[in-house]
Amino acid sequence: MKNLTKILGIIALAAVIGFGVAGCEQPTDPTGHIHQWGEWEVTTAATCIATGSQTRTCTLDATHKETRDIAIDPTVHDWLVTDEVIKAPTCTETGEGKTVCKLCGVFDSEHILPVLGHDYGNWTETKAPTCTEVGEETRTCNHDSSYKETRPIAIDPDAHDWGTWVETTTPTYTTTGVETRKCTHNPLVHTETRPLAQLPITSVANLSTVLSSLPANNADTPYEIVLSGIDITDLAKAEDPLGELFVALNGKYVSLDLSSCEWDEIPDITNWNIAQDRPDNNKIISINLPSGITSIGDYAFFFCYNLTQITLPTSLISIGKETFGYCSSLMQITLPINITSIGDNSFGFCDSLTVVCLAQSPPTLGWAAFWTSVYVDGVGFEAVIIPNLQIRVPAASVDMYKTNTEWSTYADRINGIE
Ligand SMILES: [Zn+2]
Ligand SMILES: [Zn+2]
Ligand SMILES: [Zn+2]
Ligand SMILES: [Zn+2]
Repeated sequence: MKNLTKILGIIALAAVIGFGVAGCEQPTDPTGHIHQWGEWEVTTAATCIATGSQTRTCTLDATHKETRDIAIDPTVHDWLVTDEVIKAPTCTETGEGKTVCKLCGVFDSEHILPVLGHDYGNWTETKAPTCTEVGEETRTCNHDSSYKETRPIAIDPDAHDWGTWVETTTPTYTTTGVETRKCTHNPLVHTETRPLAQLPITSVANLSTVLSSLPANNADTPYEIVLSGIDITDLAKAEDPLGELFVALNGKYVSLDLSSCEWDEIPDITNWNIAQDRPDNNKIISINLPSGITSIGDYAFFFCYNLTQITLPTSLISIGKETFGYCSSLMQITLPINITSIGDNSFGFCDSLTVVCLAQSPPTLGWAAFWTSVYVDGVGFEAVIIPNLQIRVPAASVDMYKTNTEWSTYADRINGIE
């Protein structure tokens, strides 16, 4: 029995195994194998409007394939982003664009339009800086004008707000005045001044009155006088064309600015007595002659021995004889470019003189124009060229001057203008 039981067990086991093999209902192909299918693979995806398909392949024979549909998937759209805006983006917030499914036409509003950010225009000054306060400038966003930025503009030390000029020192006939203005932003510190022209003297009588009222002075502190609109004929006294001028000095030392007077020539002095006609011959310290004068006559400034400076106009053509004789304080004189004639002894005894002659061609030069005298023991006074005389002429003209008959006397004193 024991063996029978064993045999029955084996039969039963075989029956079970045999049933298992017989139970595989897989279809077979003509070669008789049972397909061993691989995984399903999608060949066409399903969309919102169309089924898809998928295929699997037998691993034992790749020509064995099965295909089946994939159901429509209502969530699979093919989106098209349109230009249509549902909510516009701003400088700081995103917007929403409209998206449409190309297949089924359904809309989606999830499409995000990015933040624009700010687009600022140019800085514009909204408050100008002054000399004491900063200014301000602003710029505005081109997308949304409620967005503005401001920043300061530095103090401008020149941006004053000037008040009107006020006379703070009154000009007189001998002194300039001063006028002052203050900045309204800082009137204690920001002030400007400028000179006020001194009052011009317009007649010889006026000159006389003014100078007679002033205290005595000396040659180092001359009164600065501006003469304006005076006619030369008003200055003549007896034989002296400048006689009234000298009388009007009233014993005061003066620097005379005659540049606003209109003259064309200063005539010769012929018969005159210096002590009688020019008691103040030493009182003129400097003089500016008017433009337009073409000639200065004989003896015009003779023995003005305190005259240190004279300005000659470019219109000047001729200087007479003895014109500046004994002007021993005259350090330098510039003879203008148009000068053609210099008289006899015109600068005799001008013992300090340097001459600058701007004429390209040597002017005619009178006898002993630059001579003086020195005392020689046992001999007495001897006539000599002024010992310290220097003559400067245009560099290109030096040789012409040195070889000129009249100027050659001074050849070793002539040099070019530096
Ligand atoms: Zn197969
Ligand atoms: Zn769709
Ligand atoms: Zn903005
Ligand atoms: Zn100021």
